[in-house]
Amino acid sequence: MIASSPMAGQQAMMLPDWGPTTLFTNNACAPDADELAALKRRGVTLEHSPVARLEGEGAGLVLADGRTIALAGVFVQPRMEMAAGLARKMGLAFEDGPLGAFVKTDEMKQTSRPGVFACGDMARPAGSVGFAVADGAMAGLAVHRSLIFGL
Ligand SMILES: Cc1cc2nc3c(=O)[nH]c(=O)nc-3n(C[C@H](O)[C@H](O)[C@H](O)COP(=O)(O)OP(=O)(O)OC[C@H]3O[C@@H](n4cnc5c(N)ncnc54)[C@H](O)[C@@H]3O)c2cc1C
Repeated sequence: MIASSPMAGQQAMMLPDWGPTTLFTNNACAPDADELAALKRRGVTLEHSPVARLEGEGAGLVLADGRTIALAGVFVQPRMEMAAGLARKMGLAFEDGPLGAFVKTDEMKQTSRPGVFACGDMARPAGSVGFAVADGAMAGLAVHRSLIFGL
């Protein structure tokens, strides 16, 4: 697991069920004593030398101190940017989440602009198909309600 945010420790703790796990802190996360203890309990090894590059066909991780570490796979923490031209043009408010910005909505999925609703990944800090479907049902209900009863 290559860290690019302070949440990397939590993400690394999910991985040991699949295999031996190393957290490369990469100057991006600094687990406190509690988190270090939790990482140890989960069997996560820590490596503090920054990552210089990946090379080769597999996951060969070259560290800034010159060592190369062969890994079965690498997890990263990408930030996502939605294709949100329309939402930006409409002036909808956004919130910042751990994976990137998303459209701010209330519990009925109404955005900051009355009469405009948003659902799914564009309106959540992190998504799944189940959440997107549930949000869509809620937004549909709220749109219908607003058309009959007003906002
Ligand atoms: C690699 C990967 C693996 C995943 N695995 C799982 C999993 O195992 N289980 C799970 O539950 N979830 C998984 N997810 C998350 C899940 O795919 C999303 O949460 C879900 O698809 C969100 O649905 P959505 O309708 O909000 O957005 P999307 O499915 O992204 O649909 C948005 C659609 O809008 C279209 N679009 C964008 N801009 C415009 C525009 N301007 N005009 C017209 N159309 C536009 C896009 O082309 C896209 O088709 C995974 C996601 C990824 C990336």
